[in-house]
Amino acid sequence: MTTDPLAILREHQLKATGGRLSVLNIIAERGAAISQPVLEKMMGSEVDRVTLYRILRVFEEKGILHKIIDLNGTANYAMCSSSCNEHEHHDEHFHFNCTQCQKVYCLNDLHVPAVKMPPGFKAEKVDLSITGICKHCS
Ligand SMILES: [Zn+2]
Ligand SMILES: [Zn+2]
Ligand SMILES: [Zn+2]
Repeated sequence: MTTDPLAILREHQLKATGGRLSVLNIIAERGAAISQPVLEKMMGSEVDRVTLYRILRVFEEKGILHKIIDLNGTANYAMCSSSCNEHEHHDEHFHFNCTQCQKVYCLNDLHVPAVKMPPGFKAEKVDLSITGICKHCS
């Protein structure tokens, strides 16, 4: 998936509003997931809380961003993989929670072992979460 905010919005038939562009710019530049409170702070007075909440919800519905709940129970958002769309998400990768900087990283390249369900169990969502110290903090 392209990281150009304008192209992303166009691809999903979303109007390019200043708020939407800013959110995508911030997340694209970060190289890690961003927590909702930090994002709120970085957006400053550009959009109010309700607008930001709506932007994030639309992006999640469209398969642009995926939500990750971090160690503190706070919602974080990161760019989706190119296989996500408005019908389903495919973000089955490990999420690394750094206990120092509290950032959440998507480990897209880490191999995810196949999980075999016992008979009669149907997995709908798998949470792959690792806690530790990231490369910037160690
Ligand atoms: Zn996704
Ligand atoms: Zn860290
Ligand atoms: Zn992720």
